[in-house]
Amino acid sequence: MGQIQIMDEFLSNKIAAGEVVERPSSVVKELVENAIDANSTSIEIFLEEAGLASIQVVDNGDGMDEEDAFKSFARHATSKIEKEQDLFRIRTLGFRGEALASIASVSKVTLKTSDGTTSGLELYLEGGHIKEHKPTALRKGTDLTVAQLFYNTPARLKYLKTIQTELGHTIDLINRLALGYPHIAFKLVHNGQSLLHTNGRGHVQQVLAAIYGTHNAKKMIAFEGQSNDYRVHGYASMPEVTRASKNYMSLFVNGRWVKHFLVQKAIVDAYHTYLPIERYPLVVLYIEGDPQLTDVNVHPAKHQVRLSKEPELLKLIEETIRGAIRNVIRAPLVEQKKEKMAKPITEQINIWKQPVLDTTKMETIVEKLSEQQPQRTYEATAERPVIAEVQEERPVPIQQPAPELSSASTVEEASMKKEPFPALEVVGQIHGTYIVAQMEDGFYLIDQHAAQERIKYEYFREKVGEVNANERQALLLPLTFHYAADEALILQEQAAALEQVGVFLEEFGHGSFIVREYPTWFPVGFEQEIIEDLLEQVLTTRKTDIKKLREEAAIMMSCKRSIKANYYLTKEQMERLLDDLRKAENPFTCPHGRPVLVHFSTYEVEKMFKRVM
Ligand code: ADP
Ligand code: MG
Repeated sequence: MGQIQIMDEFLSNKIAAGEVVERPSSVVKELVENAIDANSTSIEIFLEEAGLASIQVVDNGDGMDEEDAFKSFARHATSKIEKEQDLFRIRTLGFRGEALASIASVSKVTLKTSDGTTSGLELYLEGGHIKEHKPTALRKGTDLTVAQLFYNTPARLKYLKTIQTELGHTIDLINRLALGYPHIAFKLVHNGQSLLHTNGRGHVQQVLAAIYGTHNAKKMIAFEGQSNDYRVHGYASMPEVTRASKNYMSLFVNGRWVKHFLVQKAIVDAYHTYLPIERYPLVVLYIEGDPQLTDVNVHPAKHQVRLSKEPELLKLIEETIRGAIRNVIRAPLVEQKKEKMAKPITEQINIWKQPVLDTTKMETIVEKLSEQQPQRTYEATAERPVIAEVQEERPVPIQQPAPELSSASTVEEASMKKEPFPALEVVGQIHGTYIVAQMEDGFYLIDQHAAQERIKYEYFREKVGEVNANERQALLLPLTFHYAADEALILQEQAAALEQVGVFLEEFGHGSFIVREYPTWFPVGFEQEIIEDLLEQVLTTRKTDIKKLREEAAIMMSCKRSIKANYYLTKEQMERLLDDLRKAENPFTCPHGRPVLVHFSTYEVEKMFKRVM
């Protein structure tokens, strides 16, 4: 007897569901894409418990007549492809005709739909079986509710992460769809709370503002370019707006949100030398071309796309974005540098050979430099002599030291017994960078920047270790911070941890936070930057490890305002620096684990001159 059996349709739907329906956000994706395909101009998404309890998508699109509504839950039911050739001309988001069947097989679905001509139909399905149907009064459009997702596939439920993580996926998805379809008004509501609302007027910048805050949206540069086969356009952030993750580059190929490694790389390449390492821009890129050149049928979840004439497209993207950034950035920067900077300062900034692009920051730096103001908090609380303070922008992400370096230095510090610091006599300074100091049996070269970083690091580590209510000061103008809804959720969750490093966030709604006060010992003039860096740190690592966060905060702060290379110190200033260094717990390495001082013994020197053998 034959062993092969034709699989029961419901079973095969459930198996397909494993591919299409991974988690609540994948259901939302299919439903919203259907609404988009149905020419909706308004799509509202209501979630309960991140979609696990229920997902409701209400659109004002074409709707379905009775016959189609019944058919829509059958496997391979699609109104979108009739012939095989159609597969190569896909303009719609859906085309496999399996989403509704799959979703219905693992949940309880209520569909209300009307095409506006006949009275509407309401269907109720459990596990893919139609249990009820009745007429319903509905304006044109579709209202589909998926309740108790995975109620009959408990194994699937086990794979799901926390409510916050699942919700995060959906917010991220709706953010992208809203960017992909600025002409559609999107509304996302979770447990009654509105998380995103776009107006559907077609302005990408307004969508960017709704997602990332007006503050960031204002710093986006429009770009547009065309080659023989492709047109690319969109918005790219000025280099001062950076993120620690590549997730903020959203790509759309003929309206479809896709992930594409090489396109991402082309964008990053466009920013080459403009961005610090490990930092990424915020970009929304629309690629348009003949659907025959863009094969979307690569993956069931349709995230991936195969692009023909790829080298041409990548070149177009890189050149277009780079050109746009250059246009906006270059001109004002050069002018300001010339008129505002005194010569020695320019030299100091140049030594890092990194373009400094944030013109507003640049101005503050220049002002600070001309004031040559010592750092008040350091002076007042540490009772240590203060040497002239100079800062410049070094766009290397100091808050993310190479992991092996930072952990090495912490481990080392914990286990190292305090080695006696040599009694040094200052001889002079080389290149405004290294202090030469001698002792009985040789001499030392001391990296002045590393030395001060170490001193400050230990100071801040102590401060951050015991955030104290008496040491707070109110800001005249509160600082504001804007984040996407999913990021805001993480920040709210981590608010207590942030308070322990001196960041007191107050929610302001719609992803905005304000900070009204900060610890008195925060490095003056860098409050906004430090808080931003700390928030960014929490967002990328989702850290709850308060010890690690404190450590990072201290490193970050110590770097903000340390004397840099190419800065000349008086003998007195050098002596004070060495005195301070002597008092440090570990004077031998900087917080990133690099050496602070290098020893040359008399014996070694004599050997070099062949005075001894
Ligand atoms: P696909 O989108 O791949 O065609 P689906 O299973 O997602 O397959 O949907 C099946 C069919 O149901 C669609 O082709 C469409 O005709 C219809 N449909 C689904 N959702 C909607 C909606 N929101 N509005 C109008 N028609 C819809
Ligand atoms: Mg579909």
